[in-house]
Amino acid sequence: MPQELLHFIDGKFVPSEDGRMFDNINPATEEVIARVAEGGRREIDQAVQAARRAFRTWSRTPAQERAKILNRIAEIIESRVEELALLETQDTGKPLWLTKSLDIPRAAYNFRFFADFVKGLGTECFEMEGVALNYALRRPVGVAGLISPWNLPLFLLTWKVAPCLAAGNTCVIKPAELTPTTATKLAEICQEAGLPDGVLNLVHGFGPDAAGQFLVEHPDVNLISLTGETTTGKAVMAAAAPTLKRLSFELGGKNPNIIFADADLDDCIETTIRSSFINQGEVCLCGSRIYVERPLYETFVERFVERTRQLKVGDPLQPDTYVGALISQEHLERVEGFIRRAVEQGARILTGGRRPEGLERGYFLEPTIIVDVDHGCEIVRQEVFGPVVTIQPFDTEEEVIYHANDTHYGLAATIWTSNLKRAHRVAGELEAGVVWINTWFLRDLRTPFGGMKQSGIGREGGVHSFEFFTELKNVCVKL
Ligand code: NAD
Repeated sequence: MPQELLHFIDGKFVPSEDGRMFDNINPATEEVIARVAEGGRREIDQAVQAARRAFRTWSRTPAQERAKILNRIAEIIESRVEELALLETQDTGKPLWLTKSLDIPRAAYNFRFFADFVKGLGTECFEMEGVALNYALRRPVGVAGLISPWNLPLFLLTWKVAPCLAAGNTCVIKPAELTPTTATKLAEICQEAGLPDGVLNLVHGFGPDAAGQFLVEHPDVNLISLTGETTTGKAVMAAAAPTLKRLSFELGGKNPNIIFADADLDDCIETTIRSSFINQGEVCLCGSRIYVERPLYETFVERFVERTRQLKVGDPLQPDTYVGALISQEHLERVEGFIRRAVEQGARILTGGRRPEGLERGYFLEPTIIVDVDHGCEIVRQEVFGPVVTIQPFDTEEEVIYHANDTHYGLAATIWTSNLKRAHRVAGELEAGVVWINTWFLRDLRTPFGGMKQSGIGREGGVHSFEFFTELKNVCVKL
């Protein structure tokens, strides 16, 4: 009997008023693991009203007190890592070792990090000598709508929830419809940690013309933080315009991974395996466009293909599985469509490109390496969001910078070289919000994170998250 996942409104788990529910499927087994309440306008309105009422007291609760509760949330998450990791794996199809070592611990750390950060947050003060003193007060904005994707469900949801609550806002969360489980657990954990009723509310459901859109349109919601596709960002921006909401968007990417001939090849190959195929390639930061300087091209391709063929695809519960299942049948078919069309246009698959043998059920795809592609090819230009990379040779620094930047996206980029001057020079030229040199996915949460161009609006991390989740008010005192 699948479990039921309900909305969490004003401190209570409730079904939808019309009783509507939808299935939640384990992508590795294709089994229905839960029935999920499907929220509509009414549930969104109830959740927003509860958040608005709770804002009066939560926004006036001292930061020290708020931080204490956030730290308690972190403690509870940490004490339930095994359980939450298993639920996340069943929801997403990603390997259990990954949810245990990355997703869930990071969710706990998000709360600890912002709990600490808010305690040291200051503002500016300007003296007009002998005339006046100006000081700025930092205030929470109000009710936040927090909309999250399915690829790193609790990791990315808590990256929004933690600074939002630390800053004194209240929220309505709308988790991705494909991965509703750990968000529901988070509501339970927040309650157990002593978060007052109404401060965090959760409504399950879909995006367009459904719970997601109704949340964006609601006149009593002040700010929207979305992580999702670039097309979703555009729809949300349009829906938010009539009520002029403050927006923060973390959107899609098509990230270049630039490998110069003087790179440390062993390190580069191992890290590029991760930046290509970890989490089934379903990470916005994955480096799906690999550019290799020509003298290294043949050697890199040979060694990278050999290493990719060693990656185990299959049961996410097995500790030696590297690539689990893709999120859904629909997404698998979408990724396969990109591969098929690339081949029709003359591309060559060096490894992968098909469902692995011997796996009867589940949305699995072998890690796939594609070469002989043109810069104009769809597979080089659009976000595939699967275990698929292209490799192209290049001859000069100028040429590779041009191709790396020749995209509407601008989320992340990676450079491999042992030439320090070149590393800094190229990093300065790349149109990407995050540039890694000789590494990937290394994050200090104090640093700005976000995309340029159509990969996002605004920055998250450290003080940047608080710039979004707070208002500054200047007070001018005549001396
Ligand atoms: P998605 O855009 O389909 O959905 C994201 C969320 O938005 C879901 O909760 C969905 O229900 C909701 N939504 C969809 N349409 C909506 C609408 N019209 N109004 C309001 N809400 C709506 O994205 P996804 O498929 O869940 O996630 C994958 C995408 O997210 C990829 O493009 C990936 O690059 C991006 N992503 C970006 C980052 C980043 O930090 N930049 C991180 C992770 C994922």
